[in-house]
Amino acid sequence: MTAAGRQCGDCTLCCKVMAIEELAKPASAWCPHCAPGRGCRIYSNRPTECRSFSCVWLVNELLEEHWKPSRSKLVLTTSEDGLEVRCDPGFPDAWRREPFRGELREWAISGETLDMTVVVIVGQRMTLLTPEREFDLGIVGPDERIVRELDGTRVVNATVTKASDLEQ
Ligand code: SF4
Ligand code: SF4
Repeated sequence: MTAAGRQCGDCTLCCKVMAIEELAKPASAWCPHCAPGRGCRIYSNRPTECRSFSCVWLVNELLEEHWKPSRSKLVLTTSEDGLEVRCDPGFPDAWRREPFRGELREWAISGETLDMTVVVIVGQRMTLLTPEREFDLGIVGPDERIVRELDGTRVVNATVTKASDLEQ
């Protein structure tokens, strides 16, 4: 369900930043079915992934209006680890602008005590944000996981490893 008064309207940014498996559409590239700023040309036949997708701005009114993806150039989603912030590759520094950078830092501070991560994704590159540092993780594949080294609740290092290695 969408937050009161919220609609995608002129926003189509998820059709660019998200990967759509059913269409073999990579992340950070426009879907061939998208009319940017207008909508989906195959709306009634769009894939299940698209039907079930909502960004955080659309469903959570706690995220203020300035986070609307078409304005902020940032699409927020949740993962089992925390918050993912996908940046329009045409505006790779959008997340560094204020008020976004400051709010991301606030979430990183509370995330550290709640054991939740805040990850910024630009193209295929991921950056883990902590209150004190940015950990550039490079390209993280779908079969890879971020491993944090903690000192209490403080993140002191972050690396990437194969998910299969963690199961051993
Ligand atoms: S990014 Fe969010 S607001 Fe924009 S089109 Fe997608 S679901 Fe709608
Ligand atoms: S099929 Fe439609 S809703 Fe899905 S990514 Fe493409 S344009 Fe967007």
